[in-house]
Amino acid sequence: MSPIIDPVKHADETLQAGVSRDTSFDQCIKCTVCTVYCPVAKANPAYPGPKQCGPDGERLRIKSPEFYDDALSMCTNCKRCETACPSGVNVSDLIAVARAEHGKKKPGIKLMRDFVLSHTDLMGSLSSPVAPLVNTATSLGPVKKLMHKTIGVHQHKDLPKYSHGTFRRWYKQNCTSQDCTQDR
Ligand code: SF4
Ligand code: SF4
Repeated sequence: MSPIIDPVKHADETLQAGVSRDTSFDQCIKCTVCTVYCPVAKANPAYPGPKQCGPDGERLRIKSPEFYDDALSMCTNCKRCETACPSGVNVSDLIAVARAEHGKKKPGIKLMRDFVLSHTDLMGSLSSPVAPLVNTATSLGPVKKLMHKTIGVHQHKDLPKYSHGTFRRWYKQNCTSQDCTQDR
């Protein structure tokens, strides 16, 4: 039988540990649009879908890690659910972080892959200053083959490109307040 965990105590411990959680699950309006757009849920009835694995599951996992479901490993992190969500819920990030936190952690290169895929903000901040280098490296055939054989990212998959610099900086340089309101 699973141990009973006090959710308030668990939340306190999380805060004391200084861990900041993604709270976008609170914005979920349960419309299930994400599940309609999920290719894995469509193809595999064993996958509970992004709504259940993301915001619904996150509420339970906060109460107790015992609620972690190994089916989350079926998510391919394609982010279609996140793009489709009308409420700005970071569905695929919630799933990826839960996998990194609660999934079976065998030390190795795939654990590193899960860390990279579940920390998109951190990787964006690190990669943006050297975006041309990172983009070139990840589009080279031999690098793609290596990633295919080691971390399981298919060689026919194109990784998203990083931008050099931030949108905030581009906006300050290229868009005066008049430019931005003229076309509206
Ligand atoms: S990121 Fe995962 S849950 Fe979301 S659409 Fe892709 S496979 Fe489905
Ligand atoms: S699309 Fe967004 S708001 Fe709708 S159920 Fe999925 S996560 Fe919730």
